[in-house]
Amino acid sequence: MRPEECSVIMSKQYSDYTLFLRELPVGNHRFEFDLNHDFFAQAEGREVLDGYVKVVIFTIKRADSVALQLVYKGTVDVACDRCLHPVSIPIDTEEALTVKFGATYSEQNDDVIVIPEAEGTLDMAWLFYECIVLTLPTQRIHADGACNTEMMTCYNRYVVNSSANRNENKADPRWEALRNMNNNLK
Ligand SMILES: [Zn+2]
Repeated sequence: MRPEECSVIMSKQYSDYTLFLRELPVGNHRFEFDLNHDFFAQAEGREVLDGYVKVVIFTIKRADSVALQLVYKGTVDVACDRCLHPVSIPIDTEEALTVKFGATYSEQNDDVIVIPEAEGTLDMAWLFYECIVLTLPTQRIHADGACNTEMMTCYNRYVVNSSANRNENKADPRWEALRNMNNNLK
């Protein structure tokens, strides 16, 4: 995602997740952020439905750069691959980042960001969100037997009907409408 798109996430100039890095005195500092329902509701991404993640950032400010160590702990809810209802995924991860001061915003690589020295701030919202999404497992499903039963009944009925009508065009909306009519008559 390009930096100009990141700013869409928060409409105001400085979000609650902005770090004022230039004005930070040289030395060690610690910041804490609570990413709660409001954070995930405001985020542009739709993968995370809800959650609570605490982010602790340990920073070392030097004359021309800031080293950040971000520690994430909490849980997020995402849609289950099987029943589509929310499933909780634990988040326990760390990432390191170096911020340098320059003329304009740029990402030198995954770990090094250059921010405009004139502003000296970095909105962490998208970085937080992106890091959490990247740590999610590829398969997100409830434990066996824990899926939403209503949804699974619908799904199983659909699978049975689909295999019984393997020669039919499954995407045919007329077939779907007929099936619904049939179910309503039962
Ligand atoms: Zn499920």
